[in-house]
Amino acid sequence: MNKLQDRQGRRFPYLRLSITDLCNFRCQYCLPDGCQEPQHKTAISLDEIRRIATAFAALGTNKIRISGGEPSLRSDFCSILRTVRDVPGIDTVAVTTNGYKMDRRIERWIDSGMTHLNVSIDSLEPAMFHRITGHDRLDEILRGIDIGFAAGLPSIKVNTVLMKNLNDRELDRFLDWIKDQPITVRMIELMETGDMPEFFNKHHLSGKVVRQQLLDKGWVQMIRPDNAGPAQEFSHPDYQGRIGLIMPYSKDFCDSCNRLRVNSQGDLQLCLFAEQGYSLRHLLQSDDQQELLTTRIQEVLQLKEDKHFLDQGFTGSTTNLSIIGG
Ligand code: SAM
Ligand code: SF4
Repeated sequence: MNKLQDRQGRRFPYLRLSITDLCNFRCQYCLPDGCQEPQHKTAISLDEIRRIATAFAALGTNKIRISGGEPSLRSDFCSILRTVRDVPGIDTVAVTTNGYKMDRRIERWIDSGMTHLNVSIDSLEPAMFHRITGHDRLDEILRGIDIGFAAGLPSIKVNTVLMKNLNDRELDRFLDWIKDQPITVRMIELMETGDMPEFFNKHHLSGKVVRQQLLDKGWVQMIRPDNAGPAQEFSHPDYQGRIGLIMPYSKDFCDSCNRLRVNSQGDLQLCLFAEQGYSLRHLLQSDDQQELLTTRIQEVLQLKEDKHFLDQGFTGSTTNLSIIGG
């Protein structure tokens, strides 16, 4: 029974948990100058993570996504996966990663309990990938995907941020790539954050453009199950893979919000673009505090706004998404 319901009647079976604000990539839309020291603060410990996962599971959460920064940079990453996997009620342990050294590590992640993988690939062209992320690592990530399938992952999701004049001519390349592979490429509209209004104005592209291109090529929008998140998914009979469109600038996007976020400082974030987070950390210090913790989560949830105000250029306190986990 899901006890996480807000004033609008939305339910939240899905938690995105950021375990670090550190990252080693320099994605132009996120951390173009790399991770700066002042950003970094002491992240939640393994015990604190266990208490967060246990409290959310007691409230009906069944899916936890581990994100960052780059979550795999944590030396205890596999212990974190095992800890979350072992919490009663959690059946889905997903990871969002930039794919760094994934070819050498993914089997260990799966052994430790990762059930679902989202890996970020903004371009399938090595030079463009390098330009966007600051790293020439596309091959290692693609190898990591092959190894992930061989090790038993039934499907993999790829996050691609849509950017005008950078990767916007790559749709056909992505479609060829997923023809015979169960990969869902999720094309995400570039979102404005406090750090990068100029980059946003230069490169934001509406997902509607891709939507029309897909429809013209015979792709069909799939019916969304009741509990699905805000992505629109498209399939095509000739393709094993799918395309997802995440369009936060579209009307009604927030109506299907089904996720809450806790950042690496233990702050509960009600929206990617909220003005503030609500600290849970003082209630993460002992197993005896679980009841206080679940009560606080439920109380804070009642403060969730019905929508974000991104379309009016209001980015809240989010300077970049590495702080909150995307
Ligand atoms: N480092 C990991 C990664 O890149 O996958 C996890 C954290 S990252 C913040 C999570 C996701 O947010 C990535 O897929 C990234 O492309 C996306 N992202 C970051 N900044 C964004 C922005 N301004 N607009 C849209 N997506 C963004
Ligand atoms: Fe790092 Fe992910 Fe941000 Fe890229 S999007 S800089 S990989 S946190």
